[in-house]
Amino acid sequence: MINETPRVRFAPSPTGYLHVGGLRTALYNYLFAKRNNGTFVLRIEDTDRNRFVEGAVENLIKALKWAGLYFDEGPETGGDFGPYMQSQRLDIYKKYADELIEKGKAYYCFCTPERLKALKEEQEKQKLPQAKYDKLCLHLTKKEVENKLASGTPKVVRLNVEENHTIKFDDIIREHVEFESNNVDDQVLIKSDGYPTYHLANVVDDHLMKITHVIRGEEWLSSTPKHVLLYDAFDWERPIFAHLPLLLNPDRSKLSKRQGDVAVEDYRDKGFLKDALVNFVALLGWNAGDDREFYYIDELIKSFSLERVNKAGAVFDLQKLNWLNAEHLRKKSSSELLADLRIEIQKSKFKSQNFSDDYLSQIIDTMKERVSFVKEFIDTCTYFYEVPSEYEQKSVEKNWNPETPEHLNKLKEEFASLNNPTKEDFETALSKVSEELNVGKGKLIHPLRLTVSGQSTGPGMFDLLFILGKDEVVKRIEAAIKHIN
Ligand code: GLU
Repeated sequence: MINETPRVRFAPSPTGYLHVGGLRTALYNYLFAKRNNGTFVLRIEDTDRNRFVEGAVENLIKALKWAGLYFDEGPETGGDFGPYMQSQRLDIYKKYADELIEKGKAYYCFCTPERLKALKEEQEKQKLPQAKYDKLCLHLTKKEVENKLASGTPKVVRLNVEENHTIKFDDIIREHVEFESNNVDDQVLIKSDGYPTYHLANVVDDHLMKITHVIRGEEWLSSTPKHVLLYDAFDWERPIFAHLPLLLNPDRSKLSKRQGDVAVEDYRDKGFLKDALVNFVALLGWNAGDDREFYYIDELIKSFSLERVNKAGAVFDLQKLNWLNAEHLRKKSSSELLADLRIEIQKSKFKSQNFSDDYLSQIIDTMKERVSFVKEFIDTCTYFYEVPSEYEQKSVEKNWNPETPEHLNKLKEEFASLNNPTKEDFETALSKVSEELNVGKGKLIHPLRLTVSGQSTGPGMFDLLFILGKDEVVKRIEAAIKHIN
């Protein structure tokens, strides 16, 4: 049992974007570290040179920071256990691979790709459960190995997995796990290009970086027996493992790009709030044991525990994310939303117009309960930003009668006579006109809404009039009468 303060790591391979599953892994590591006064390390696992993507590391760090996940040690911040990019640690892996060869726990393999391919085909023909290397090179004599090395024959280093035993380990989430060693391949540890594979680099670094808990996605569970064998081969203490449940599409297939967005950056660009996305991702496999769903990250830190992470796959439910976004949006202060709205306005066709803080704050207060995204403070009510150029046809057909222009003219006159009208003044004026004309208020309100907003639904009528202001309302009534008649 490891008793010191925990050190955990998020160890992504830089693919160019941060997958939402990666965000979940990073978040659980972060929450666990913060909950237990531990250290959160970012380590970049970039030893697959074929997968190199320009700018990938920068993007990844940017996305993590956007989500509020600051690491204590990592490529930018540094720390006592660096470098934190595996591509800068190649000598270290080489040294440890040599140590394993020395101990007989690993061996050189000089088999050609052609031989390996033929072996695989043969094993497939025999319907073996999985293709495995046949240990041919394990039986080379010392002399043979020396000769091949001296002549520069291409080689890899393989883990020597002993046959006929059970590999056992414990996992906080999956409890006791066992694999038969006969089902574990003699994994390549150092590739022919001299780079380590994920397995060797990951174990060496977790050990050297004093990682106490390995918290990662379930897709890595089948790698863990190899890792356990490596820890044992080096005679190193194993970390505590916790494999997080898979993320699933609503049809319970594995979460994939094909069914929707998987990059954190996509959600950010679509206008999801970071607090909402973090809250949503936290619930993908964890709950505090009650029905609570709304959390800020500080509250998650207080409530989180690995013991309460489920085994069962977690369904990625976009509707819930939308709902959480609306909830988080409503909890934001008006001044925060004002700043957010100004950013959205800059991205919209209204960017060159001047709207006062007071005007925008009124829009925010009136629309807050009706929107789920900041950009909807514009998109669902463009009439606050421009004079409507179209009027909803259905509503025109339903609410526009031969006598409507006369009614609206009367309303216009009444409004025009008001001095700095409040919301209540508009309401009183409309009641007055309704009585004078002897028509129900509804008969006035529907066409009035249509003329000032172009739409049949929206916020409270008198809020709408008050925000637009008397002069604008009067102008819009005139324009609509001309346009519709
Ligand atoms: N580099 C692996 C990844 O891309 C790390 C898995 C692990 O955490 O061990 O997720």
